[in-house]
Amino acid sequence: MRASQFFFNTQKEAPNDAELPSHILMVRAGLIKRLGSGLYSWMPLGLRVLRKVETIVRDEMNKAGALELLMPAVQPRELWDETGRWAVFGPQMLKITDRHSREFCFGPTHEEVITDIARSEVRSYKQLPLNFYQIQTKFRDEIRPRFGVMRAREFMMKDAYSFHTDFASLETTYANMYQAYSNVFNRLGLKFRAVKADTGAIGGDGSHEFHVLADSGEDGLAYCDTSDYAANVELAEALAPNVRGAATEVMRDVETPKQTSCEEVAALLNIGLDRTIKAMALIATLEDGSTQFNLLLIRGDHRMNEIKVNKLDGLHDFRFATEEEVRENLKCPPGFIGPVGVGAHVRVIADRTVAAMSDFVCGANKPKYHLSGVNFGRDLPEPSLVADIRNVVEGDASPDGKGILSLCRGIEVGHIFQLRTKYSEAMNATYLDEASQTQVMEMGCYGIGVSRIVGAAIEQGNDARGIIFPKSMAPFTVTICPIGYDKSEAVSAAANKIYADLNAAGIEALLDDRGERPGVMFAEADLMGIPHRLVIGERGLADGTVEYKGRTDAEAQMVALKNVVEFMQ
Ligand code: ATP
Ligand code: MG
Ligand code: MG
Ligand code: MG
Repeated sequence: MRASQFFFNTQKEAPNDAELPSHILMVRAGLIKRLGSGLYSWMPLGLRVLRKVETIVRDEMNKAGALELLMPAVQPRELWDETGRWAVFGPQMLKITDRHSREFCFGPTHEEVITDIARSEVRSYKQLPLNFYQIQTKFRDEIRPRFGVMRAREFMMKDAYSFHTDFASLETTYANMYQAYSNVFNRLGLKFRAVKADTGAIGGDGSHEFHVLADSGEDGLAYCDTSDYAANVELAEALAPNVRGAATEVMRDVETPKQTSCEEVAALLNIGLDRTIKAMALIATLEDGSTQFNLLLIRGDHRMNEIKVNKLDGLHDFRFATEEEVRENLKCPPGFIGPVGVGAHVRVIADRTVAAMSDFVCGANKPKYHLSGVNFGRDLPEPSLVADIRNVVEGDASPDGKGILSLCRGIEVGHIFQLRTKYSEAMNATYLDEASQTQVMEMGCYGIGVSRIVGAAIEQGNDARGIIFPKSMAPFTVTICPIGYDKSEAVSAAANKIYADLNAAGIEALLDDRGERPGVMFAEADLMGIPHRLVIGERGLADGTVEYKGRTDAEAQMVALKNVVEFMQ
């Protein structure tokens, strides 16, 4: 690409709504342009990066045997009524009405649509297993869009959905997808970690998140270097500032401060609504100086989807309740951590934050200690999962007993999940087995935040001069900077030849033929994160050399003109 034929729009000033380096740099380098809250255009330079991510994701999906299709962004309400999610998905879903007063949503995810396809297209066990995927635009009306494309409202997701005759087949595909995801992030050149994700009431071992490691990540991860243990522990340290902001914002944003949807709170706390039941206890200080105990319950089983925030009018300030205050107010016995009965599992994430999973919390003061008939995995998470999400500090023993825990932060870029029959049952997605009996399909789903990956990569790779893209994602591999392109015949001829030779060798080169000063060319190339730079000047040409510098090299080096293409390979 010749720079004179391309379009650049770099900026010196950081956008004023940007908090993170990736957001600042993506705007400054002209990769994206903001249209509105959580809405971004991908400019030609940025789209080159996004397409590279997409290409690698698509390639690994195809290799894993998944079949690409493309579903509509707009989805009819009727499908969502079948699974009950129209009512419970909450304000993250953008609802629209057409000219015939029919209701639709702009899809935040596609389980309903794909299950509708499977139930009408799949007849026999012979057609299974099947794994469909798409790379498509999602819309989620995030309560706090932030960090540029990392928490946008309109964003690009790769979402795959698999269908099976039995659980064993689902497990096989799940393992394949786990491997495919690892391949994607390795090929992208990102430091990442796969962790067990909180499956909440669904239980089992059926969900993993893939996180790009970065201090700015919103999730807390605990892992053990001497075993396979790794989990998203939603560290109190990571969560606490969000919780504080969240609760304040929920109270400010909702029309009636006494009730807000759990989706809003879940979105703010950054937790999966579908499979998580959580609560937090707060001590509110009212304007008159009195204090009040409040329990905010977030329950994701689609039965109770309202969170009640009691008597928070006139709220002055609040803090997290201590464990003692929770025990006192909820009439919990001491040592009340871990599963103790039906609906009475309270876990302490930190001394200040209490997360609860319970029916009894709904009727706050009436604990029911039904100890009989408890089915772990059905009524309560498996005890092992409880251990995963309890209060964790650096150096704690790993729950598998095989070492100690280290903590880090991550940005969720992928999430795979064993859905089992949740959607297929609700929507009657069945097939005929070998005995011509009707059976419900098993399902898995697998998401990758394609556009979020670009931001996450920049969180991992940047310096004072700008973006440091991994080679796999850079918009161009090498920039050719001729000194005096418009003045020196020798320079322009050499630059044109190198450009043509690199192109012929399949190396994506940007020829900066705009006649800019070296300082401007270098600064822009560094800001845009181009991994390699060749400088062509009359003095070097007289010696038969050009200057080469890698984006992160301290010093430049001279390379023989005749060896440039070879050197770049
Ligand atoms: P988060 O916890 O960050 O809100 P999520 O758990 O709600 O994400 P999933 O439903 O698991 O998201 O969707 C699959 C993937 O889509 C996520 O792993 C993430 O990479 C990406 N994603 C989700 N929400 C957004 C968003 N608002 N902007 C960009 N990417 C997103
Ligand atoms: Mg979310
Ligand atoms: Mg999440
Ligand atoms: Mg997720």
